Amino acid sequence: MDLQQYLTEAAAVEREAVAAFDAAPDAAALEAARIAFLGDRQGRVKALQESLKAIAKEDKPAAGKRFNEVRTRLESVHSARRSSLDHVTSAAVADLTLPARRQWRGAKHPVTLVIEEIEGIFRELGFTIALGPDAETEWYNFGALNFPPNHPALDAHDTLYLEGEGLLRTHTSPVQVRTLQTYAPPIRVLIPGYAYRRDFFDASHAPAFMQIEGLCVDEGISFVDLKSTLNLFAERFFGAARTRFRPSFFPFTEPSAEMDVQCGICGGGGCPACKGTGWIEILGSGMVHPSVLEAAGVDSERYTGWAFGMGPARIAISRYGIPDIRILYDSDVRFLEQIAE
Ligand SMILES: [Zn+2]
Repeated sequence: MDLQQYLTEAAAVEREAVAAFDAAPDAAALEAARIAFLGDRQGRVKALQESLKAIAKEDKPAAGKRFNEVRTRLESVHSARRSSLDHVTSAAVADLTLPARRQWRGAKHPVTLVIEEIEGIFRELGFTIALGPDAETEWYNFGALNFPPNHPALDAHDTLYLEGEGLLRTHTSPVQVRTLQTYAPPIRVLIPGYAYRRDFFDASHAPAFMQIEGLCVDEGISFVDLKSTLNLFAERFFGAARTRFRPSFFPFTEPSAEMDVQCGICGGGGCPACKGTGWIEILGSGMVHPSVLEAAGVDSERYTGWAFGMGPARIAISRYGIPDIRILYDSDVRFLEQIAE
């Protein structure tokens, strides 16, 4: 290779390399071009350096000078192109003029909000929280709670039976029995949890629903304690000016009563929310049946108690004006966000 050929080849490498670096659209393409021209092993510049050995001794200084010029220029063109690509990339990532993305924060479910508020009121009255298993035995769910076999009251409690002896509890009341078996009176507990019934899933029924009940057992507990405590609760929770108790029947309480609160919307005059009656039914209650105390091993001659149970989903529905109970099960963020606190 004579000097003229060498200089021609050097000019070609320089021209092609500059074109390739400038045309690289991104960092990966630029790196590929760098390896092709400036690569240590097989780059075109490396080959140009190797060719120097074949140049005649008297031409070597001129060829070597040209080689250094080409290598230096290509390194600087490559470096300039790389920083310009870096700048484009980082500008896209950190555009400080973009509006900030709103972070979505989780929030409590409406039924959870209702339960926590109920718990808060009763906690001030000395109640603690008790929990129990969702899968129960027939004895805990029915027998210990004074449901006679084949009694009509069982019809309302048709549930899902498990293999063997078990069933999904139809109410949270089995936890009353478990609490009475475990702790000696005085007892004041609040029992939130899921209950299961063989109900169709429609606008006002669900086969799995939250229930919350309360139990108070001690010496000398009377219906006065039941009424005064529940009246206090109704006043705190519903802002109810008046309440009323209607006789009712539950196997596990005697006497039993449904409690209504005066409709807060119409003040008792009658409106669609209270179906024109002026009252809203909120819970069932009663004095714990002596048979329930005895079944749990508590002396019913010495101790008496009262209990109540209510459905926090129904309370949430009336409180938040929810038209269909199934919405509570959808976990649709657009709905939950409207109620989230
Ligand atoms: Zn009303």
